Amino acid sequence: MTNVDSAPTQSADNPFAASAIVTGTPVVGGLAYGPIIRIGERPAFDATAAVVVPESDRDSQVQRFVAAAGAVADRLAERASHSTGVSAEVLTATAGLARDRGWIGAASTLIAAGAPAAAAAAAATEQFVELFTKLGGLMAERVTDLRDVRDRVIAELLGLPEPGIPTPDVPSILCADDLAPADTAGLDPALVVGLAMRLGGPSSHTAIIARQLGIPCIVAAAGLDEIPTGALGYVDGGAGTIGVNPDETLISSAIETSRAEAEKIAAWRGPGATADGEPVLILANVADGVSARAAADAPVQGVGLFRTELAFLDRATEPTLEEQTALYREVIDAFDGQKVVIRTLDAGSDKPLKFVANAEEPNPAMGVRGNRIVATYPGIRNGQLDAIAAAAQGASQVPWVMAPMIATVEEAREFAGQVRDRGLVPGVMIEVPSAAILADKILAEVDFVSVGTNDLTQYTMAADRMSPELASLTDPWQPAVLALIDVIGKAGEKHGKSVGVCGEAAADPLLACVLVGLGVRSLSSAPAASSAVGARLGGASLQRCREAAAAALDATSASAARDAARAVIDA
Ligand code: PEP
Ligand code: MG
Repeated sequence: MTNVDSAPTQSADNPFAASAIVTGTPVVGGLAYGPIIRIGERPAFDATAAVVVPESDRDSQVQRFVAAAGAVADRLAERASHSTGVSAEVLTATAGLARDRGWIGAASTLIAAGAPAAAAAAAATEQFVELFTKLGGLMAERVTDLRDVRDRVIAELLGLPEPGIPTPDVPSILCADDLAPADTAGLDPALVVGLAMRLGGPSSHTAIIARQLGIPCIVAAAGLDEIPTGALGYVDGGAGTIGVNPDETLISSAIETSRAEAEKIAAWRGPGATADGEPVLILANVADGVSARAAADAPVQGVGLFRTELAFLDRATEPTLEEQTALYREVIDAFDGQKVVIRTLDAGSDKPLKFVANAEEPNPAMGVRGNRIVATYPGIRNGQLDAIAAAAQGASQVPWVMAPMIATVEEAREFAGQVRDRGLVPGVMIEVPSAAILADKILAEVDFVSVGTNDLTQYTMAADRMSPELASLTDPWQPAVLALIDVIGKAGEKHGKSVGVCGEAAADPLLACVLVGLGVRSLSSAPAASSAVGARLGGASLQRCREAAAAALDATSASAARDAARAVIDA
């Protein structure tokens, strides 16, 4: 099938008789309908142009600058007042940057010395960017927000439309290359009802936020430029399509069906099981006590992945035994009596820790990361296991503990020994293809495995999981990835041991059915995905899941695997 179809006929690929259709990768199901909008351009502006403002104009330039910064701050604060949770916090903090006295003072000084207002805004921002970058940690993370404020103020000064996500008057569908983290914080799901991205994969930042907000979303839609801004269009997040000018009667009835589906999902409370009652644990991925307590409000039955390294990203020194024990206990207590799977530090590559210093590596994703740090820092990993054992004292359940980036049977054996010595339940993540191939021998050493589909896909396809250009390769529906999970599932059944999935694949409701068909019995992902996954699984029998898995395994491409599985599950 080609990406763009301009024939306005009704067919399986064009069920709403739209006049142009673009296909991408489906990531959040549901149907959205409304005008197509796009992100405002960042202002093109040459900060190096050597213009000097005459002295007589400098005061008025300072006033213009202060007024522009104030207008931007007011607009962001106004948006914050209509938002909730993290979005409201991010917007309020960004409004605070636009009002920052230090920044306004620095720009005003530059204007007083002759710089035009827009050039002064840019130069003052760079002073603060340098400072924030030197401070590191959370301050360094504010650099994107600082530059965002700069662009908004410069656009205001130059009389250009505000950059970033527009605030539409009616519910609309947003098309973009990809969304920056600062952009997604301002997303209002009542106004941005559908998302279509040209780049990005199922585990991209945009996909994760869309899942959290429940906004139908497709990514990796290569022909998105063909979709005209302003036209009335739809996004079908289940089929992975975006189209414009659909037949109104067809789309209205499909929207009704989609709404009913959304209500069913919202009403799903668990526990996880197939339609014929095969239990499948629906679990949450968490990063600390706060996220664990928030996850406990979702219909999940425990924690399938506690990414411990995320709690220590801003630490210069190794956390003490007491600090670690308190943190792990918080998560255990948030799920009292339920399953909690704690992962030892996955330091390195995309999650560097300052207290685990590695030599510069040309290829860190394949370097000393995860459990591999034990060769240089045995004390860090073993100290962490001591802290987990201390946290487990007196708890009503024994936590399961797993190691990331296991590649050999020896690594699994060594880890399992250390964990059992402390009275805990040992497992490993399977996210390196060698471990998948040897799943049978690895399961002989440990009590459970959990498949990290984000890395397993990256390493199987030799495609960087962070690359927006390689999204079609970093897709867990790739038949090669499914074939490896099949090997792992069969090994789990042979040993009668638990096989889970804790990568983003577990957040895809259709893929969840396929994974269960391959032998997976726990699915752990962002808590926001739990209802959609649980509801879809609850509508499919185990036999259906197995048939869908067989159909997906037979396919020769990711999209064919998706289509084949959907045909079985929706039959
Ligand atoms: C994975 O690789 O799928 C996984 C769950 O680990 P992380 O995303 O933290 O690397
Ligand atoms: Mg991983």
